[in-house]
Amino acid sequence: MKALVYRAAGEIGLEDVAAPQPAADEVLLDIDAAGVCGTDRHIVAGELGVAPGTIPGHEIAGTIQSVGAEVAEWEPGQRVACFGQVTCGVCEPCQRGASNRCQRPAVLGMARAGGFAEQIALPTSCLVRLPDAVASPIGAIASDAIATPMHALWSVGRQSPGETVVVIGAGGLGLHAIQLARLGGAACVVAVDPSEAARKAALLAGADAALDPVAEENPRKAMRQLAPNVSLALECVGRSETVELGLSILAPGGRLVIVGVGMAQPKLPPLVRFAGAELSVLGSFGSTPQEIATVLDLIERGRLDVSHSVGREVSLAEAPDVFSQPQTAGRTVILPRSEESRA
Ligand SMILES: [Zn+2]
Ligand SMILES: [Zn+2]
Repeated sequence: MKALVYRAAGEIGLEDVAAPQPAADEVLLDIDAAGVCGTDRHIVAGELGVAPGTIPGHEIAGTIQSVGAEVAEWEPGQRVACFGQVTCGVCEPCQRGASNRCQRPAVLGMARAGGFAEQIALPTSCLVRLPDAVASPIGAIASDAIATPMHALWSVGRQSPGETVVVIGAGGLGLHAIQLARLGGAACVVAVDPSEAARKAALLAGADAALDPVAEENPRKAMRQLAPNVSLALECVGRSETVELGLSILAPGGRLVIVGVGMAQPKLPPLVRFAGAELSVLGSFGSTPQEIATVLDLIERGRLDVSHSVGREVSLAEAPDVFSQPQTAGRTVILPRSEESRA
């Protein structure tokens, strides 16, 4: 089959590789769509130490081609979205249904073959039924670009109706976070992003206001004027400045949920303020298969506008160039079964 293979830092190319052989408890999927996430860009840039020869891609939608001998609950022809890691199923978090915190995970496209290919073999624990009404590119990105901010706001941040929510970083995750915050009953949603295009998109996605943190001399003061009582902030960037900004704008009792990852080591505010105001900082990572199913249900019911979620669709042959181009507003999605891919 054809697949995109990570070769070395900055190098990814289309290759013919052996088709995957599913184990008895796995299914073989024909991949209909695979989203290109920021993480894939870090992989291709050589920043995450992924082994050369790996096929990246962890946002996958596909159609079951065949099932292993021990698989009873799935059958060929069913459309699915995929949870982005193969979990052990036996560690304490897995046992409690928190599979995003599995202690021995194999992330697709990093520790095992991912979705930038015609086919993939996966255990059934990764499969989430994809409703007929949800297109494959949307199903693919739902597993990460939409389910991740939902987990952060609702499960980790425990958003309650009437709150003022600030979303820092209005990229793929942030724009969906704005819609989800609205859906969760936010009284006011403010986006923070230095890019004018991102701020415009944030307002279109339903933010009440959008702040440019670079243009403002004192972003904290500007935020207080826009939204005096920020009780929940979501950090989607992964930099020290943005984490520290998020903490500085919280009202007493406020929570900052960090979704952005990286090696940054942000500072806490003076403890007299941090402890005195009972602020909370929470980390959030990915989502669970159950949450992906919830996201797909919300999309099927028309509760989320995903019409701007996908920016560009490309074939496998076109895809290597995507990694040397700047990220587009909507996600870029690879369609491995398109005619161009098969040519
Ligand atoms: Zn991702
Ligand atoms: Zn586990």
